[in-house]
Amino acid sequence: MGNPLQQRRTPQELAAVGQVIEIKNKVSDFERLGEAIARDLRALHGDNPLPAWRDSLVCGRLNFGFADAQGKLPAVRGHAAVDVWAVCQRCLRPFSLPLRVELRLMFGDVAADGYEHWELDDGTLCPADLVDEALVMALPFAAMHDADNDCVALTVAGEKPAPMKTPFANLKTQMGKEN
Ligand SMILES: [Zn+2]
Repeated sequence: MGNPLQQRRTPQELAAVGQVIEIKNKVSDFERLGEAIARDLRALHGDNPLPAWRDSLVCGRLNFGFADAQGKLPAVRGHAAVDVWAVCQRCLRPFSLPLRVELRLMFGDVAADGYEHWELDDGTLCPADLVDEALVMALPFAAMHDADNDCVALTVAGEKPAPMKTPFANLKTQMGKEN
């Protein structure tokens, strides 16, 4: 049997058996998330800066069931987490960005309070797509270092740009205007 995360089924089937899916999959198993990260990293570093970024582990769990007592409204609740590689838009250096998402989705015409609606494709869904979409939506528009002292752009703020040691910082220097 394959991984239920990758199997396309109807939400009624998944809910009827109370399908629980434990997620422990690499970023490379989530197509859109992988594309988004690749796009972000490619923009700054050329071909192959962080070869292991596709191996970052996505962990979480999905619980399928019914949102109503009558068993008519299939739904899923769950969560997922992963630390992805992103590029800080302030200092242009790569850093590890934690993504944490909660999922509460319904699939029929009705969506109960607190649930979002998921559009079915031919009446079916692939559970991996739910997680993929939620993680992509959680990506910040412009990723930045959280802590000021992690960010080169902030620690050198107000000073003359000093010669920097990392290839990424060098790239920034090359791209910047001449002083
Ligand atoms: Zn930074």
